[in-house]
Amino acid sequence: MRDRLSKERRQAVPAPKSAERGSLRRVAINKDRLTRARRSWNMSRIRGKDTTPEKAVRSLLRRLGFRLRLNVKIPVSKTKVGTARRAVRTPQRGVPTMFIRPDIVLVKHRLAVFVHGCFWHRHRGCRNCTTPTHRRAWWVKKLEGNAARDKLHQRALRKLGWKLVVVWECETENPDRLERTIANRLLKIGPKASSQ
Ligand SMILES: [Zn+2]
Repeated sequence: MRDRLSKERRQAVPAPKSAERGSLRRVAINKDRLTRARRSWNMSRIRGKDTTPEKAVRSLLRRLGFRLRLNVKIPVSKTKVGTARRAVRTPQRGVPTMFIRPDIVLVKHRLAVFVHGCFWHRHRGCRNCTTPTHRRAWWVKKLEGNAARDKLHQRALRKLGWKLVVVWECETENPDRLERTIANRLLKIGPKASSQ
């Protein structure tokens, strides 16, 4: 969960629309789809890590007795990710590699946890899964791109034998709901806290 806005932040800060106009020339020169003002605004909203939903999931898992690791990079053959039909294998020598970095990893259980922001990762049917109307086409491309990449990454990890749990931002807002959700998902795929 590295690139998402909290709901409050999204609502609190409007896009600087006025700064956007009349700067098409600069866009072309910069080869950036956004003006500098808008890019700067966007990037300033991006939080590296330790977002509230992520912290909530982490502390719950710890409370359940799991040992967590953060910042685990899982190597995957680059050529195998992005081509839906080909198998994803553990990288071999000489094959370009990319890394998938889940938000939380339970190494012992070979379990990767992703905490996804509903806006950035397209939580379908969720009230937070909105599309900005300003520069709509750009946003659709970006957000759908995020969702597609998530799918590829998840498929790649599954083929490497990883179990996955995806937790959505909206599921973390209520502690009781979060606990139920996590418990159900863990129950489905295996690991028990007591086996830690
Ligand atoms: Zn949601």
